[in-house]
Amino acid sequence: MSTSAETAEPKKKPTEAGNYFISNYPPFSFWSPENNKEVDEAFLKLHDDGASLGVYHHIPFCRKRCHFCYFRVYTDKNASEIKAYLDSTIQELEHFAKQPRIAGRKPKFVYFGGGTPSYLSGAQLTELTDQMKEILPWDEAEEVAFEGEPGTLNPRKVKAIKDIGVTRLSLGIENFDDRILEINGRAHKAPEVYKAYEAAQSEGFDQINIDLIAGMLDETEENWQRNIEETLKLRPDSVTIYQMEIPYNTTIYKEMKESGTLIAPVADWQVKRRWVKEAFEALESAGYTISSGYTALLNPEKTKFVYRDELWTGADLLGLGVASISHIAGVHYQNVNEISQYTDAIDKGELPVHRALKTSSDERMIREFLLQMKLGLVSIEYFRQKFGVDLLSRYEAELKELSEEGFLEYDSERISLHRRGLLCVDNLLFKFFLPEHVTSRIV
Ligand code: SF4
Repeated sequence: MSTSAETAEPKKKPTEAGNYFISNYPPFSFWSPENNKEVDEAFLKLHDDGASLGVYHHIPFCRKRCHFCYFRVYTDKNASEIKAYLDSTIQELEHFAKQPRIAGRKPKFVYFGGGTPSYLSGAQLTELTDQMKEILPWDEAEEVAFEGEPGTLNPRKVKAIKDIGVTRLSLGIENFDDRILEINGRAHKAPEVYKAYEAAQSEGFDQINIDLIAGMLDETEENWQRNIEETLKLRPDSVTIYQMEIPYNTTIYKEMKESGTLIAPVADWQVKRRWVKEAFEALESAGYTISSGYTALLNPEKTKFVYRDELWTGADLLGLGVASISHIAGVHYQNVNEISQYTDAIDKGELPVHRALKTSSDERMIREFLLQMKLGLVSIEYFRQKFGVDLLSRYEAELKELSEEGFLEYDSERISLHRRGLLCVDNLLFKFFLPEHVTSRIV
């Protein structure tokens, strides 16, 4: 990771093991089982702060484990084990939906993530979502987002996904080249990408997003250009591009450790940033607008990403399932990350919580600030109104330094990241951490 002393963009920085992407604050390593009692207390609080509600459902099953994957996923569960897991998530939802914090509210957004939600059959998805809707109706949800792995999607499955109410289908394409998909352990092949995309298009989802990763194992200049060209041919509503990171619990890291290598066998950070920069420029030339450090939108007026925007402005998020992450009334928590521990806890009527952290108002302010910086545009007034904080005086030195280094600019109304800053935004954010949260390992 980068600390404040090394924020300036290095000339050439190899990809070492560790997490680069910042998805939450304070970092997960500060969440602890000692704080789990805070979770009960959070759910007992009344909803009097105007926070919207979202539901995240985690499907931890995949056909194959990708070599760069750091999630807890299962590739060997049979239909009855999957049913038992889904039944447990329904029991978890039933329990929380009755709590004072949630009772009577309707989700503004619902997200199915994983793992691979599209690993489930159409019948499993229909049964699961009918039960969920009965407990917590989705009729006012502005977005139901769903992650799909191209090789699991056929026209019937895609229709079932549309029928359960999904509005945003996100396809985990990652790369268009069979050889690179294979080397990285992906289960799907390139022809399945095109079939899945066509099926999704013919169902008329409000929004199709495709995910790509810059810097997979064996990625080349030529192939990356081809990824850009193929993306432009498909012309999806939204394109999300991640820069390859190698967290500690990936197969790639295990192999690095066994061979005593510190540098991952993927492109360095400078090259990955340039690849994303080139992709963004090509997308902009084709009419897209860059809406965050990772995302390009074809029609930003019409295409929203409610899950991201609500989460990054402090929504309550009720996470269901193994290892899922929640944020309720200012309390962060994560569920246990083994499926047997999870279903056992639910069977015994216990909370399946692994670790938690009750945030202070200042930590919540920093969290929203960091996450909104990833959009490339932060409103000064928003933070003044919501937290009574003037970002310009609170971060006077940090903003001045980043501005002098050419990463951003600011005035009395907003902080705007330059493209150069947006492409390495996660690296810049450590500057704004409280000193006690700056560590050499952020998960
Ligand atoms: S499909 Fe996603 S969740 Fe499943 S193994 Fe690959 S990266 Fe991990």
